[in-house]
Amino acid sequence: MKTVKDYIRTIPDFPHEGIMFRDVTTLFGDPRGFRLAVDQLLHPYVGRRIDKVAGLEARGFILGGAIAHQLSIGFVPIRKQGKLPGNTISQGYKLEYGEAVMEVHEDAIEAGESVLLVDDLLATGGTAEAGLKLIEKLGGNVVGTAFIIDLPELGGRKRLEDLGMDVHALCA
Ligand code: 5GP
Repeated sequence: MKTVKDYIRTIPDFPHEGIMFRDVTTLFGDPRGFRLAVDQLLHPYVGRRIDKVAGLEARGFILGGAIAHQLSIGFVPIRKQGKLPGNTISQGYKLEYGEAVMEVHEDAIEAGESVLLVDDLLATGGTAEAGLKLIEKLGGNVVGTAFIIDLPELGGRKRLEDLGMDVHALCA
């Protein structure tokens, strides 16, 4: 049987020369691959209290939406600056070159809610840490973080684990 990793392709020199981009559209586009990924991502959290799934823009929306639907709970988008229409709170984070800002609607999560944070790939962990901080600023408890791919050599797993986070990833 194919594993999740078998459905992912690597595109060289995207978006810059020298970058080996992990392309998960081939995983999302395959009916067995997509179901396998969603099932495996949520598996450690079955039977645990989760009130909401938060997904990081943009591929975290695809996965997070499917997981939230599967668990019959709500989905919260964490978006790049300027995309959300309502009142938001913001969190800056460092990119390879420069900085970026993530936002969430200020009423998207209620204090005390348990939230699962989802994205497709964990690299330096900067994006996920921004998401985590946003959820915590709203009073949410992050029960775990779930990714399809973890690139441990980039330090993201250690960074999140040092913050006390549970990190669940399907492949490297
Ligand atoms: P980090 O903040 O952990 O350094 O980078 C993770 C973010 O960048 C995630 O939101 C992820 O979608 C995106 N990302 C970085 N490199 C790749 C890649 O090779 N493939 C995919 N699919 N996303 C990537």
